[in-house]
Amino acid sequence: MSETGKVAGGNSATVIRLQGLSKRFGAITAVDAVSLDLYENEFFALLGPSGCGKTTLLRLIAGFESPDAGQILLDGEDLTPIKPNRRPVNLMFQSYALFPHMSVEGNVAYGLEMERLPKPEIARRVGEVLEMAQLGELRRRRPHQLSGGQRQRVALARALVKRPRVLLLDEPLGALDRKLREQMQLELKRLQHEIGITFVVVTHDQEEALVMADRIALLDGGRLAQIDSPRGLYEHPRTRFVAGFIGSMNFFEGHAAAQGVEVEGLGLLRGDLPAGLAPGSRATLAVRPERLALGSDPRRQMENNLNGEIREVAYHGQDLNLHIAVSGRATPVTLRLSSSPDPSGLAPEALTPGARVVLSWSALHSRILEA
Ligand code: ATP
Repeated sequence: MSETGKVAGGNSATVIRLQGLSKRFGAITAVDAVSLDLYENEFFALLGPSGCGKTTLLRLIAGFESPDAGQILLDGEDLTPIKPNRRPVNLMFQSYALFPHMSVEGNVAYGLEMERLPKPEIARRVGEVLEMAQLGELRRRRPHQLSGGQRQRVALARALVKRPRVLLLDEPLGALDRKLREQMQLELKRLQHEIGITFVVVTHDQEEALVMADRIALLDGGRLAQIDSPRGLYEHPRTRFVAGFIGSMNFFEGHAAAQGVEVEGLGLLRGDLPAGLAPGSRATLAVRPERLALGSDPRRQMENNLNGEIREVAYHGQDLNLHIAVSGRATPVTLRLSSSPDPSGLAPEALTPGARVVLSWSALHSRILEA
């Protein structure tokens, strides 16, 4: 894996290159010196908290905003002077913006009719795309006669029929309920794979990005915090912001030592220091709740062991979160166990508030970050 999260051996010809792209609105810098490459045929997600600049970045690529600095290159050519409707890039809005008085077929055909393409070609392309989006049987319906998921597919079909090189989708699943969202995540991924064009999806939902994307750019206050594969982002966050944004994490603050982080009240917690972090400087050790185990088993080579007391047990269906108070530390540590079968080897009655436990983890699962 390279700096940009490029997956070795993947199809990785660059379609769009953003170079030092910035956009200001008055005193706010919505997008701040962002440089990244979008590859052919990849599912790319722009992720980050509200207001971090995701939509603005998408609108810059689409051409609805013009940058204050930097360039957008398509196949090496500057796109900046090219109008939105002349870019081989299509933006699908969150609201879908379907025409209510037109049938599904009419909505999908509209863009091609505006281009004055010959009627048989329009019919052929619309037919193909409706088939692919599994809308063939619904072609005569109006938008109000469709479910949320079906409307979403019409909007997608309408964008795809124009055969863009890159499809930009702003919170494409935002209007759907949770169950349908999960189903459509897989569907979107299937469609992207089948069509083989680049999808750039804006989402604030980290799980959605992890499920769908080949690569994710995480933004923080207009800046690129990290760009990586879902696994890279989850397993190897480079900053505390990234570690805290993706999934849940336990943080231990202290000072870097040769073999880990020295934490006041707890002693040395072991893990590998990243290159460039000098012993003695402020550092944070991060460890995922699912990497913690109960009990100190010398055969499992858990270098880190802490004594604690269970404060709360939260049942989540497939897993169990234990909040464990550790002496010498103000906030409880969270430990996640799969609820069945119970890998802790402890009887369920041992997992109750007040029980004394040892929690442990391997130094391999410690992630040490600057401050
Ligand atoms: P959300 O997830 O809430 O949609 P976002 O990450 O998409 O947020 P943007 O919509 O890109 O964020 O906004 C980035 C910043 O720029 C915000 O502070 C926002 O208030 C500001 N902003 C965006 N568009 C405009 C505008 N047209 N005029 C002024 N400020 C704007």
